[in-house]
Amino acid sequence: MNIPTPLNTYQSPETLLKDRIILVTGAGDGIGAAVAKDCAAKGATVILLGRTVKKLEKVYDDIVQAGHPEPAIYPLDLLQAREDQYQQLAEIIEKEFGKLDGLVHNAALLGGLTPMANPLIEQWVKVIQVNLHAPYLMTQACLPILKQSASASVIFVSSSVGRHGRAYWGAYAASKAACENLMQTLADEVENNTNIRVNSLDPGATRTAMRRIAFPGEDPNTLPKPAAIAPAFLYLLGADSEGVTGQQLNAQ
Ligand code: NDP
Repeated sequence: MNIPTPLNTYQSPETLLKDRIILVTGAGDGIGAAVAKDCAAKGATVILLGRTVKKLEKVYDDIVQAGHPEPAIYPLDLLQAREDQYQQLAEIIEKEFGKLDGLVHNAALLGGLTPMANPLIEQWVKVIQVNLHAPYLMTQACLPILKQSASASVIFVSSSVGRHGRAYWGAYAASKAACENLMQTLADEVENNTNIRVNSLDPGATRTAMRRIAFPGEDPNTLPKPAAIAPAFLYLLGADSEGVTGQQLNAQ
């Protein structure tokens, strides 16, 4: 298997994602917005899921103005979403498109950096809800439509602290570590009986709102923009990564 190194150097054909249906969570900003736009540029119909409709509309407009396939906007606050709303999401995708080829679990909440000695249970619950429960419930609900795809790809967007804990990153790091484990579990479960591949991807330090909050002293100009990371996602969503599953990958 020829995996590009680093993954964000991947160069893809213009039609890489033609006729593919790809759902990106947190598609209104940062890495999610860049990935959604790149997927559309490569021919995909993108389902833009997020909580701030104005931001999703901006991404929608950018995609349409560029002449790429018209995306769909799906407003959903992952902090509040109940189990039946994930089922409803899957039912609507099935009705509209008949299948799902890509599921990018990108939306996440940083919460705030704090020592473990500091009990912030409310923050813990919120971060785990958005970063772990939401991708778990969404994946579960979407499995039947992912199985309708000839070659489906699920990506859990991770972080270096999800692979090795670091002081003060408590709930966020734990949520990402759990997603890594969930990715391995699912990859193992579906490897031999479906066309679904499942991987985790650490984008690495990227110039976004979340990064600015996590590292206020850092000069953002030293970091790559989200668009520079997006090719790593294209690789995992397109045919060139068929057979790659259960892997913990890095974009940079
Ligand atoms: P941003 O904060 O820029 O974007 C996060 C996205 O998630 C936003 O679109 C946000 O929506 C959405 N989101 C947050 N909470 C919810 C919610 N309750 N319901 C629906 N959507 C929600 O972060 P990044 O682009 O930096 O992060 C993208 C992914 O990359 C995350 O999984 C993050 O953990 C990971 N990552 C990022 C790194 C970096 O350096 N930037 C490094 C390592 C990992 P809204 O805009 O409406 O708030």
